[in-house]
Amino acid sequence: MIRLWNTLPNETRLKDNYPDFLNSMHLKYKIHEYKIKNSFHYDTEIDTIYMKLRFQCSALNADEFKFNFTDNSKCTQCNKNKQETIHYYFMDCIKYTQQRNILKNHIENTHNNFQNLSNRQFIHIIQGQKSEEVDDKIYKNIYQFIKLYIVTTGRFAA
Ligand SMILES: [Zn+2]
Repeated sequence: MIRLWNTLPNETRLKDNYPDFLNSMHLKYKIHEYKIKNSFHYDTEIDTIYMKLRFQCSALNADEFKFNFTDNSKCTQCNKNKQETIHYYFMDCIKYTQQRNILKNHIENTHNNFQNLSNRQFIHIIQGQKSEEVDDKIYKNIYQFIKLYIVTTGRFAA
């Protein structure tokens, strides 16, 4: 986790929402938890969760509904009554606004091409689609923050 923070440029650390981020006990706890579990095994676990998200066979309700693992395809983390898809989880659910801002700020501050990250660019990045703008090196860097998002939302915590 510390390793992740150290890769943040100063501008990101000083961004307005950073104190909010730190003040949130919930997130602090999640980060603490992540530090403890930040072993090879745990990293692999997050890789697997991300892979399942990309292939739309994750523990999100819209995915589980497709495979008849649940009767409810809606997001139960908020009261918006929307399908809990990968798109909704990363882009829209209001429960994860802070975590989403951290991820977006990171992408915008680290990569000049994404100064005003559009929703379309954002979801492409989340889905791991390579493009001229996102080469392997950039993606590897962003991926650390996608993982941080997954961990700090706590959505897939056992
Ligand atoms: Zn929601």
